[in-house]
Amino acid sequence: MYIDYPEFLTSQNGKRMISLGGYTFVCQTTMGQKARWWCSTHHKKQCRAVLHTLGDEIVYIRNEHNHAKKQMNTAIATISYLV
Ligand SMILES: [Zn+2]
Repeated sequence: MYIDYPEFLTSQNGKRMISLGGYTFVCQTTMGQKARWWCSTHHKKQCRAVLHTLGDEIVYIRNEHNHAKKQMNTAIATISYLV
């Protein structure tokens, strides 16, 4: 499975986000090292794309969106690149 390199971001209001291939995922729940991320348009557009991480690694992804990808949001304050 082809996966773009994810970028771990922090929004201005302190939310953890992942930018991946033009889509943005927002951290929903964490359980220890595991985290579940929903597409940032989950509520607005009922997009059902989701990914799971273990530490800094993506262990599961359903990268199926019902909307077009968009350019980087200027509201994102801090960008830290994953190696
Ligand atoms: Zn989406």
